[in-house]
Amino acid sequence: MPNVKHQKWWGWGEENVFFTWQNKPAFAPMVKRAIGIDLRPRQRDTVDFATAQVPETRISTEQLEILNGIVGADNAVTEDHTRVVHWAGKAVTDILKTLQNRFDRIPDVVVYPGSEDEVQALVDAAVELDLVLIPFGGGSSISRSLQPRPEEERTVVSVDLGRLNKVLEIDETSGLARIQAGVLGPDMEEQLNSRGWTLGHFPDSFNHSTLGGWAATRSSGMQSDKYGDIADIIRGMNVVRQGGLVTLRPLPSTSTGPSLREMFIGSEGRLGIITELWVQVHREAEQREVIAYMFPTWQQGLTAMRKIHEAEVHTTFARISDAHETEFSLATQKAPTSLKKTISAKGQDALWAVMRKRGWDTKAMCIAYVCYEGSKDDVARKKKTVAGIAKGQGALILGSGPGALYDQKKFDTPYLRDFLLEQGVIGDVSETAAPWSQLTTVHKNAYAAAQSAFEELGKTGWIMSHMSHSYHAGACLYFTFAFEISDNVDHEYALVKTRIQQSFIDSGATLSHHHGVGAEHSPWMEQDVSPAGADLMRGLFATADPGQNFNPGKILDSPDTLYRALGQDQPPAPGAQS
Ligand SMILES: Cc1cc2nc3c(=O)[nH]c(=O)nc-3n(C[C@H](O)[C@H](O)[C@H](O)COP(=O)(O)OP(=O)(O)OC[C@H]3O[C@@H](n4cnc5c(N)ncnc54)[C@H](O)[C@@H]3O)c2cc1C
Repeated sequence: MPNVKHQKWWGWGEENVFFTWQNKPAFAPMVKRAIGIDLRPRQRDTVDFATAQVPETRISTEQLEILNGIVGADNAVTEDHTRVVHWAGKAVTDILKTLQNRFDRIPDVVVYPGSEDEVQALVDAAVELDLVLIPFGGGSSISRSLQPRPEEERTVVSVDLGRLNKVLEIDETSGLARIQAGVLGPDMEEQLNSRGWTLGHFPDSFNHSTLGGWAATRSSGMQSDKYGDIADIIRGMNVVRQGGLVTLRPLPSTSTGPSLREMFIGSEGRLGIITELWVQVHREAEQREVIAYMFPTWQQGLTAMRKIHEAEVHTTFARISDAHETEFSLATQKAPTSLKKTISAKGQDALWAVMRKRGWDTKAMCIAYVCYEGSKDDVARKKKTVAGIAKGQGALILGSGPGALYDQKKFDTPYLRDFLLEQGVIGDVSETAAPWSQLTTVHKNAYAAAQSAFEELGKTGWIMSHMSHSYHAGACLYFTFAFEISDNVDHEYALVKTRIQQSFIDSGATLSHHHGVGAEHSPWMEQDVSPAGADLMRGLFATADPGQNFNPGKILDSPDTLYRALGQDQPPAPGAQS
């Protein structure tokens, strides 16, 4: 068995890492108010794999022998646990289906190639033998981009890139690194940091996702304001396709026709397997500081975020939670465990009391975090400019204490979904991007859409949001929703999620800013890029992969859409929902 790290088979991340609420006194009352349930102590430490009812592999002996011949028998695995780990990503519905033994169609074999030549041989064999190849990075897809089509009759091969995990070279003069696609975030940063460099790309899923996966899904990290989205970071790449390797050299910029680089970024395995990437890397910053600010209202906070951009302050990130998310965030504060922390908690209560006296509605206030990197002087200058902008919008500067806490906790939140599922609650996300001029409308309409779904289901549901990645022209809004589920969970989830997604499109926003398309978002592609645009993309996939051997059914024309659970073929016409 190859030495490749995987997430736990039944949920997010690693075994023995849990979300706990007993040390957070405000959490259970907040959940009760938000979704009307009483939290129980966590029961589930792990799930015994013996409970999984795994469909048998359908691979023939002849096919397995051919794959063994390419990657070596140890690196072609048909054993159940490995196939289950590779059957889906970590969308909440993937996790739920796994826990409920609802494996629609799982890979018949998982192969771990150890070189680009082996990937080429696999690709050629897949076309020759009419196999389905699904590239696998960290398995953190949240848009159902890894599952085989449920009705797939052919042999399905999951191609795990985990053995291709090295930083191969760094062009120190140009700040460019050549890195293998299967490297996980922490392993890559460790190799870069040891030579004084960083990629600066830190998605929330950083610990369990790979460079190749980021490229294939058009990922964006929390520090994209400074380092760019993955599409800005990638300068060149190797993609293995039937008939040969596409090599795109690392170039700062080029005007050689439509961009092949852009075409492969976001292709979700449909155009071939990415084996190597040339990426921009940066020297680690001399100083890094995260400062927290409290704004009286969402509108004032959002205005401040836009003004920071207008003033060209060049922050590393600038993010603001709306009032609901601020309430949630405050409710996850731990009970003080020392005298110092007790004094600090009392100080916070006193601060809120003063703010109320000054006319603040503490239910409307919104917390923001801004990260600064650079030399000492540079950081000080940026902080000063932002302080002026924030105060101009009525903000209180909370300082670096809460900022540092946010920075430490940033990769923990995903574990909350596993905990909530155990409590019979779905907690999931929808994210989008829109021009600054549309953001308030997008926010309002997503709330209304979720609320209408909750009402139709007769549920007390919760929605909250933050603005994360920002650009000259606009920003990303990230929504989290939660509600108690019943036996009819497929219908309930589909109703809430489709309402929110449709509200994005109807409000002039995109159907996804950084989670990609997969099967989850594919029904809206025609509305997102226009029917003629979708046709052009269809033509590309048909020409590039006439046998539909490369992750078919993703991005466009997925058979397995949320509308199935609603008994419909496709989304309503644009605007019909509002
Ligand atoms: C809790 C949680 C938090 C998340 N936070 C973020 C976030 O902050 N920012 C963000 O951008 N995303 C986020 N995601 C989504 C996910 O982490 C990204 O889509 C990520 O880029 C996927 O990388 P991966 O290596 O896990 O790819 P996988 O999930 O393994 O694969 C994703 C898709 O890419 C294809 N693929 C993978 N590797 C290759 C390759 N080498 N060549 C060709 N195709 C390939 C797969 O076939 C599949 O279609 C989050 C997901 C979860 C569950």
